[in-house]
Amino acid sequence: MSETTETIFSKIIRREIPVDIVYEDDLALAFKDIHPQAPVHILVIPKKPIPTLADAESQDHALLGHLLLTAKRVAKEAGLENGYRVVINTGDDGGQTVYHLHLHILGGRQLSWPPG
Ligand code: 5GP
Repeated sequence: MSETTETIFSKIIRREIPVDIVYEDDLALAFKDIHPQAPVHILVIPKKPIPTLADAESQDHALLGHLLLTAKRVAKEAGLENGYRVVINTGDDGGQTVYHLHLHILGGRQLSWPPG
């Protein structure tokens, strides 16, 4: 897949589709998932349209670190002092449905393991 892949998240970045944004900077956007799987369910995405984690390259290492630190920041601001889960579904077997890299932040309830 190329990095020019257009997804619904590209439209969200361009503000063509409304979302509930909780954080934004030059590199990343965080917004509430439209179908929350937990009391808190936030997506953190890079503005650069990397399709999947498997498409990330060594030049993206700082961006990937930034996404994790953004997840930490957003989780703290959401009040998830008791813990949370960060998930990156990758590819078909990973259950990925939107091919623009994203981190799910899930919290606000006890999460089970293993996931389905
Ligand atoms: P995936 O299955 O690819 O890991 O996760 C994609 C996530 O994007 C899903 O949890 C889905 O609910 C969310 N999503 C898809 N379209 C939209 C949208 O238009 N707005 C928002 N806020 N979330 C979306």
